[in-house]
Amino acid sequence: QWGRVCGRLREEVGEGAFKSWLRPVVLVDLEGGEARIAAPTKFMRDWVAAHYADRIRKLWHAENPDVQSVDVIVVPDRLAARPAAAPPAPAATAPATRTESAMPDRPPESATDFGAILDQRFTFDNFVVGKPNELAHAAARRVAEANSVTFNPLFLYGGVGLGKTHLMHGIAWHIRQKHPERRVLYMSAEKFMYQFIRALRFKDTMTFKELFRSVDVLMIDDVQFISGKDSTQEEFFHTFNALVDQNRQVVISADKSPSDLEGMEERLRSRLGWGLVADIHPTTYELRLGILQAKAETARVEIPAKVMEFLAHKITSNVRELEGALNRITAHAELVHRPVTLESTQELLHDLLRASDRRVTIDEIQKRVAEHYNIKIADMHSARRARTVARPRQVAMYLSKQLTPRSLPEIGRKFGGRDHTTVMHAVKKVEELCSEDRSFAEDVELLRRMLQI
Ligand code: ADP
Ligand code: MG
Repeated sequence: QWGRVCGRLREEVGEGAFKSWLRPVVLVDLEGGEARIAAPTKFMRDWVAAHYADRIRKLWHAENPDVQSVDVIVVPDRLAARPAAAPPAPAATAPATRTESAMPDRPPESATDFGAILDQRFTFDNFVVGKPNELAHAAARRVAEANSVTFNPLFLYGGVGLGKTHLMHGIAWHIRQKHPERRVLYMSAEKFMYQFIRALRFKDTMTFKELFRSVDVLMIDDVQFISGKDSTQEEFFHTFNALVDQNRQVVISADKSPSDLEGMEERLRSRLGWGLVADIHPTTYELRLGILQAKAETARVEIPAKVMEFLAHKITSNVRELEGALNRITAHAELVHRPVTLESTQELLHDLLRASDRRVTIDEIQKRVAEHYNIKIADMHSARRARTVARPRQVAMYLSKQLTPRSLPEIGRKFGGRDHTTVMHAVKKVEELCSEDRSFAEDVELLRRMLQI
């Protein structure tokens, strides 16, 4: 279809204009009435969009009435100038890719010379294992250590920033170290697509196919990216099958399980689930704390345990954010030569923490305080007077007075129908203790901050 549209275009615009502007344009995909085509530079994209998009759409629509719109995107040469584009030199030594490598001094026959940069921090040694990621980690290690193919493919999935890319790089680093003769190719699915488009543009799909089918281990990251990209998916499917048939290891990552990948052909989805599917769950408090400790140790910064606990409690979205918070704190401490404190942390991370800004309720205060002191929530309302429950109860009353707009009688009622003088007494008592006992004061401060933001 695109070929025929091009034929018509050439007739309409003339050979000169066609050669300058339209020949380099390739079809990316055609879906739901929208055709997507790619130009190699932004300038060409803009030109084509401004001068030819409408004509292309009309011609295409005449060719295929389903086509309603045409979208012109950029597939930059920088990204596309990869092995597939190289002159028919032996694939693995394609020169264009080597400049991109993280370690330019390694020998050219090294397996990861083509493909993407490997992040040197993303090794198994630097990966903190906890309940949420233990299966994925164990599977990745197995694949890295095994001499023959184990699960094929290994499919890792989980939300953003939970360690998928880290594990894949970990596999690549391990193999490179232990079996430098094995050829490992790690690449994002996005880049796979660019390479493929580039190969199409230069009518050099042979090199592309050879390149991908000559590796021992193929790792494609974020495969969800090719959802809905039909021709790329098709090519990926064939690459995948060719490798699996030759008993080469394939590792895939995605943000969803194979069966939940929308916009993927059924046959590909089912194929992706044939090996081992390992998910990475959202982090737990323990894992976040473990990661913070490990990172602080690596960075050789002193961070008080209270600050770590605070961060692990507060930054729950993903590991990337947690790292970002830690980096900011570290950088700040180094710049101003001042030790890290809970206060400076809260100030520095104001924007990150504000996302969860909200009014606290007495119920939340009771719950948090009970958790903190390891007593039952029911004890907040009970008549028990033992110090172990009475003190936390007083702290909770004090915080309720400080953090909510409730009156003393209202607070009293929430604490098992106590009267306002009891609450007043609790507030005074806690203030008194805070001024006498430093560690108690810090405890209360920590609770206050956790509740407040
Ligand atoms: P994903 O690919 O799943 O989006 P990444 O692998 O890029 O996530 O991880 C995001 C960041 O968090 C990286 O810097 C990575 O090193 C770090 N990270 C994630 N999980 C862990 C872990 N278990 N231990 C140490 N660092 C981790
Ligand atoms: Mg990733």
